Amino acid sequence: MIKLTNVSKSFQTKKGTIPAIDDVSLEVQPGEIFGVIGYSGAGKSTLIRCVNLLESPTTGSVIINGRDVTNVSAEELLKVRRKIGMIFQGFNLLKTATVYDNIAIPLKLTDVDKKEIDKRVQKYLQIVGLEDKHDAYPGQLSGGQKQRVAIARALAQEPEILLSDEATSALDPETTESILELLLKINEELGITIMLITHEMNVIQKICDRVAVMEKGKIIEQGKTVDIYARP
Ligand code: ADP
Ligand code: ADP
Repeated sequence: MIKLTNVSKSFQTKKGTIPAIDDVSLEVQPGEIFGVIGYSGAGKSTLIRCVNLLESPTTGSVIINGRDVTNVSAEELLKVRRKIGMIFQGFNLLKTATVYDNIAIPLKLTDVDKKEIDKRVQKYLQIVGLEDKHDAYPGQLSGGQKQRVAIARALAQEPEILLSDEATSALDPETTESILELLLKINEELGITIMLITHEMNVIQKICDRVAVMEKGKIIEQGKTVDIYARP
């Protein structure tokens, strides 16, 4: 589903070249929940940005669903990106838009018709358990509820892959637990492949089938979660 082969990405700065990721190879199978764990600065964000095609690798290849996206046209890129949803630590909701509009606006931009938009907003708000919050503004919601809206927004594009960038890092332990359960449900019931990055071991232990451990831009260990971490 996602295959990175010998991917490196470095940034040129005034202080010189920073190798953010260095010769990383990994493969995420369809239907799997794959986690990348590491401390701040390990290269996790850069890695996930390469998968989301927001960043292009300096060397190496990225294959999404059998298609090499390392050097594709902008038009192709848009098509592939539509198959990928993403959620973030800071939720990235529009403060001045209702829950409905937060989910609907990206759909309008991709030419989904009004009837279909209504249907999808309804469907995905129900899946995340917020069907009564159509007209609320983000400021009226808790952190967990905001993340649920962000998840509904990502799902409404009907992606094959959901990427999560520290999606539970701003949440308390109880809320984290409920969001992780939601991600499991999405994976199991909708069959969506999930790749997430985190610095929290409990996130990996709770929902990831496999894990890659990153340090200083490299994967230092990779395998089944049960083989790498004992269950708590
Ligand atoms: P993580 O997500 O694990 O915290 P990052 O991928 O954000 O790690 O960063 C890895 C390294 O690459 C860090 O040293 C960071 O400062 C550097 N880096 C990331 N993005 C950029 C950028 N756009 N320009 C320069 N350096 C960057
Ligand atoms: P995270 O908490 O996800 O690791 P960061 O604070 O490392 O996020 O990075 C936030 C954004 O800033 C990212 O887009 C990253 O690419 C960019 N960035 C990170 N480090 C640097 C840096 N040293 N110089 C320029 N941009 C950077």
